Amino acid sequence: MSRRLSGRSFPFGSGRHAFTLAVLLAGAAAVVGVVRWRTAWGGVPAPAPPVRLEPEGGLSFDVRDARTGQPIPCKLTLVGVSGTKDPELTRADIGRPEGDKAIAAYNRIMSLAGVGAAHVPFGTYDVTISRGPEWDIATIRKVKIGAAGAFVTARLSHVVDTTGWVSADFHVHAARSTDSRVPMQHRIFEFVADDVQMIVATDHNVVSDYDPYIRELGAGAFITSAIGDELTTASWGHFGAFPLPADLERAGQGAVLVHGRRPDDFFRDVRANAPDAVIDVHHPRIDAEIGYFDIAHFDARGDRAERPGFSWDFDALEVMNGYQDPVRRSVDRVVDDWFALLDHGHLVTATGNSDTHHLTFNIGGYPRNYVKVQDDHPALVSAKEVARAVRGHRCFFTTGPFVSLVVNGGTMGDLVPARGGKVRAEITVQAAPWVSVDHVQLIVGGKVAKRWDLPGDAASSTAPLRFHEAFDFDVKADSYALVRVDGEKSLTPVVGDRKTFTAYPFALTNPVFLDADGDGRYATGAAHGHELRRAPR
Ligand SMILES: [Zn+2]
Repeated sequence: MSRRLSGRSFPFGSGRHAFTLAVLLAGAAAVVGVVRWRTAWGGVPAPAPPVRLEPEGGLSFDVRDARTGQPIPCKLTLVGVSGTKDPELTRADIGRPEGDKAIAAYNRIMSLAGVGAAHVPFGTYDVTISRGPEWDIATIRKVKIGAAGAFVTARLSHVVDTTGWVSADFHVHAARSTDSRVPMQHRIFEFVADDVQMIVATDHNVVSDYDPYIRELGAGAFITSAIGDELTTASWGHFGAFPLPADLERAGQGAVLVHGRRPDDFFRDVRANAPDAVIDVHHPRIDAEIGYFDIAHFDARGDRAERPGFSWDFDALEVMNGYQDPVRRSVDRVVDDWFALLDHGHLVTATGNSDTHHLTFNIGGYPRNYVKVQDDHPALVSAKEVARAVRGHRCFFTTGPFVSLVVNGGTMGDLVPARGGKVRAEITVQAAPWVSVDHVQLIVGGKVAKRWDLPGDAASSTAPLRFHEAFDFDVKADSYALVRVDGEKSLTPVVGDRKTFTAYPFALTNPVFLDADGDGRYATGAAHGHELRRAPR
């Protein structure tokens, strides 16, 4: 660690001379130290040779918006080629500053400014420059870093039109969580570089607030945040809640008390103290210890939970968690739970969140939610507005593809009339060139109504508009329509390295509800198990 730090403490921007000087000074200091040590210890065997600095050169970058010519936040991902190994700019979850406007971590550089420089070990690298799924990427091959450094430039285009939607990750950990070391400030670099426009803080049993960090970094034009908490229990699973009031005088800054209590208790607490909050069941089936549905022996199809204390009073379900990115089958299980909940009239919203704990593999914003808002400029988006939209199902989640769905004139979260059972769904899928779109499914009442498999050339097309179809169908009773999109090509190297972690394009929308009987509501035939149980006998 110290050999890296000694080189870095000198300003680098003025050219490589300062850096070389730093290396020489560090070396000289080490030699002086060894001489003194020998004098003091007389005839003792010679010590190990002094630690040498790994030679590093400067990677300068200039990344701009192709349309405006202005510098933009970005991420540079370095992959070693021609015998060079992938760089380890850090080996731990604490980024290293590269000037005031960038950090480096593992093999990535995350810049708020778009123009800067970073220290990189000598070698040859493919450098991929990206700015999240709405933008195209640039890969500059075989960039040689030697004593003279190297300079890369890119002009990225914002190719996916997301007007009216803000991107948000509702499940984010940093150093205030016992199982994360990432400084909160470094999450701002990570999320801005990958164009996530809202961070919801969900540290374990503590209320955290990213706002002071956003302000300190002057990043308010790119990102906003919501104060939240991950209600973390040993025996019931994990639950996100946001926005929450922060209270410095209370334990955990006002975190919801969970110890020794059941979901029906602590959900009630959230409702009483934060009536605007979303309760999002995190990773409901991720494993037997922390998945609410597994722990409670919840049978979604039967709408029953064996364990007393189970509560249905949640607003959202984390259908996809970042740790599931590589394994779509584990997502399918939760998708099926979600359909069953909708069938039984539990109108909960599907969310997808990274649950990132580190600065490697499962990184922030994959998946992310797009939430429909009045004005999508991050500075104008409030946590309360986002929470309201989430409770109203006006959002969808994705690792890349951007989906629009219009059903009988309504969009996600709307209840639309379906007179005579007649329905028309219009589906549009946009994606940046590095995001593959291979399968699009229209799902009605939990069943696949129509599946489109895109031919190879369409799937690998670089045009942002990948899919646009209108499809007519009939329903016999109230129902709901939603869309699922899958891509076969991994998102490497922007997300995942295909060795320790891989992520694929995946998107799932929330439903448009269909009122077939014209009574002005969505009512399913299936009984509500919990309501039946509560009914007087
Ligand atoms: Zn978590």
